[in-house]
Amino acid sequence: MMRILLTGGAGFIGSAVTRLLVQGRGATVLVVDKLTYAGDRRSIRDCEGKHGFRFVQADICDLPRMQALMAEFRPDAVMHLAAESHVDRSITGAADFIQTNINGTFAMLEAARAYHASLDAAGKSAFRFHHISTDEVFGSLGPTGAFSETTAYDPRSPYSASKAASDHLVRAWHETYGLPVLVTNCSNNYGPYHFPEKLIPLIILNALDGKTLPVYGDGSNIRDWLYVEDHAEALVTVVERGRVGETYCIGGRSEKRNLEVVQTICDLLDQRVPAARPRRELITFVADRPGHDQRYAIDCSKIEAELGWTPKQSFETGIAATIDWYLANDWWWKPLREKKYSGERLGLIEKK
Ligand code: NAD
Repeated sequence: MMRILLTGGAGFIGSAVTRLLVQGRGATVLVVDKLTYAGDRRSIRDCEGKHGFRFVQADICDLPRMQALMAEFRPDAVMHLAAESHVDRSITGAADFIQTNINGTFAMLEAARAYHASLDAAGKSAFRFHHISTDEVFGSLGPTGAFSETTAYDPRSPYSASKAASDHLVRAWHETYGLPVLVTNCSNNYGPYHFPEKLIPLIILNALDGKTLPVYGDGSNIRDWLYVEDHAEALVTVVERGRVGETYCIGGRSEKRNLEVVQTICDLLDQRVPAARPRRELITFVADRPGHDQRYAIDCSKIEAELGWTPKQSFETGIAATIDWYLANDWWWKPLREKKYSGERLGLIEKK
């Protein structure tokens, strides 16, 4: 029964991990989240009021606050997910990405280092700092091959560069100060509670509304898609049983071209909510994202062999479950979408 301090727990992946820890594992969880535009307490409303669950609104860059929270809560592990996560936003304004992803991770590491130093020998060896990162730090692949734990870093967007920097800091705190760290690098996630600006929810909701379905370039970019609940299960497995100092790559073994993803959503929606015309007709190709990585793929054989984790959902079952979730839960996405995210992905970056 672990005590977990989890940053970013009101976000997309953090909320799935929080739900799994609180409802599935009976863990004691302190969620620390600033509640930026991407954070929403409604995503963890099923955990509110549950024994062992607590939420604190705070900025991870606030080092004294992070130190005080760790000293007070006394976690067995920190799971660090809080980040600015949207690549398009990082292109139009990188400052928040540098601040939260780099300086915020630095503050979390310093707070964890001070807390770790205060523990007795048993506490010291049990403690884990788990940094959650992305496969985008590895850059872009050609038609063959896959990223693994030994792939050299080659980030190409402000987002991936800021995550790469944070990964390096985490490893440095392990090598230099002996902080017991774990790092995971995961491929693209999709599933329930995904913010409506991201590709899959945007396409589902625009298709439902009969709006344009924007696809970057010619739609040939390939991503390896992982259902978010499979990612949450992998993260909890790593924090429970991963080897200190190790990196684990996590992926869905589900490579799809962007156009294929959009067409699949159109076809599944046509079956569920028939429209006058096939929704594929709404697909519109738009100018490509600058520096758009062509292909990501993950070799996740290490976590499979060492920790026995494998994804439960195929893309086909996961995307169907995701569409069904959006159809059944407009209470969650309607208020977010009505605010500002119903139009073209390129033009509607929120002004803070
Ligand atoms: P998200 O944008 O949905 O959620 C981020 C959360 O962090 C939000 O709740 C936000 O309020 C919070 N946050 C942001 N800045 C903060 C700050 N300064 N202090 C405290 N809280 C802050 O992101 P996500 O998609 O859930 O991603 C979570 C993590 O997983 C990120 O580190 C991301 O890099 C990584 N990741 C994401 C994916 C993906 O496909 N979404 C894939 C691999 C790795």
